[in-house]
Amino acid sequence: PTIEYEELRRKLRNDIQETWYYINAELMKIKKRNNDNFVIDDDHKNDIDNVIYNIFDHKKELMMDMNKLEKFDGHMDWREQEAHDLSDLVQRRFYYLQNPSNCDKAKKLVCSLNKGCGFGCQIHHITYCFLVAYGTERTLILRSQGWRYQKNGWESVFKPLSDNCLIANGESHSNWPGDNTKQVVILPIVDNVYPKPKYQPPSVPLDLVPRIKKLHGHPLVWWVGQVLKYLMRLQDNNIKKLNESKEKLGFKKPIVGIHVRRTDKVGTEAAYHDIDEYMAKVEQWYNQNFDNNESIIRRVFIASDDPKVIINARNKYKNYEIIGDPAIAETASVSNRYSDASLQGIINDIHLLSLCDHIVCTFSSQVCRVAYELMQTYHIDAHDKFTSLDDIYYYGGQNPNPHVAIIEHIPKNLAEIELKIGDKIDVYGNHWDGYSKGRNARTSITGLFPSFKVQNPIAAVEFPKYQQVPI
Ligand code: GDP
Repeated sequence: PTIEYEELRRKLRNDIQETWYYINAELMKIKKRNNDNFVIDDDHKNDIDNVIYNIFDHKKELMMDMNKLEKFDGHMDWREQEAHDLSDLVQRRFYYLQNPSNCDKAKKLVCSLNKGCGFGCQIHHITYCFLVAYGTERTLILRSQGWRYQKNGWESVFKPLSDNCLIANGESHSNWPGDNTKQVVILPIVDNVYPKPKYQPPSVPLDLVPRIKKLHGHPLVWWVGQVLKYLMRLQDNNIKKLNESKEKLGFKKPIVGIHVRRTDKVGTEAAYHDIDEYMAKVEQWYNQNFDNNESIIRRVFIASDDPKVIINARNKYKNYEIIGDPAIAETASVSNRYSDASLQGIINDIHLLSLCDHIVCTFSSQVCRVAYELMQTYHIDAHDKFTSLDDIYYYGGQNPNPHVAIIEHIPKNLAEIELKIGDKIDVYGNHWDGYSKGRNARTSITGLFPSFKVQNPIAAVEFPKYQQVPI
């Protein structure tokens, strides 16, 4: 296929989704309208409900058509092959970087796992280190002894990052950024790094961009997912544990994953969302992908740091098969969090979430973003297999990457802002009702605009090309 065709196909899906968000939200507003001059009576409320129901049916058919188009347009073999080949190329480059012929002489970048935060945050921290290592052609050496989750370090659960080069020895050392004469460079956490490495997210290697953007709807997420694929290779006994857990829980497809972040996050870094909000999205996913008369089991996997979430959902939603392990959630609560049991639990939960057909969560949580990134490695393109109840996707500490207006917008009321094609927009959030909020850099005005009128450009940056690794 041509790149134009693949991008158009993905844009169409997105446009259908955005149309639905918009119409549904507007009709719900009309239904709830209740001011001095105007109250909607019950008959009209019923009419509106019927219209929403029918529009959903239309949307479902359009999405089904899009699925069929993808299946029958004759390019599926290419997509499968390209997803495999591109991942294979990148993984071979990572392997090459991490396995220098002479470790004593190799250029190295040293990074400590022990950032003072949770597992998802720490994974994102070393992913950032790995990207800088890849960009500066330095083998990444991970310091992980005394890790807050497991004092024996990274290799107690994951495979080492190298077969032959795990020590930070060298003739000369320097703090970041160092220079070419220094064999070993030490990288601080992203919050303290100066100058900011141009290789950190959202940067994607320029030499790979044409291929990634043809294959995938969100190249940054694909790229980060590839780093996770390399970093998060489980030790064999952990693969075994994961498989046992799948078996025990009855983890089977179709399945939608829910991640409910509670305890220390609620009220500090994120708002509370009731389980009903998550389940409403799950219901929409099943309604859209299966006919009501199809006898499928509506299965849901729930991961949380609060066991009550799983227990209560099981009691409340009897028409769903709710799987999840309250005992694992118990190990995730703040007082138990930094322990080996907790580590086993979060690895288990993140992997199972990433294996789901769709995930419903809050992107304010790094747990959910790691699962979403990892999910990309199990699908050709899973960029739209998520529903976030709060933020849009971002990478913590990322360099700025404003959206760009692709369609003009004339504000229809005081809440809306003007867009001219090419305007740069800092998007603060998507309200998932057809509108996003952001600031137009040209006018310095903040407000709402239709989400489908902007796009996030790829931050293509020159990285080393690793020509020693065959294409
Ligand atoms: P964030 O605080 O949600 O952005 O994510 P972090 O990963 O930085 O910190 C949260 C930590 O809480 C995780 O790393 C886990 O240790 C624990 N946790 C949160 N949610 C879950 C969950 O669903 N399952 C398990 N097992 N642990 C969780």
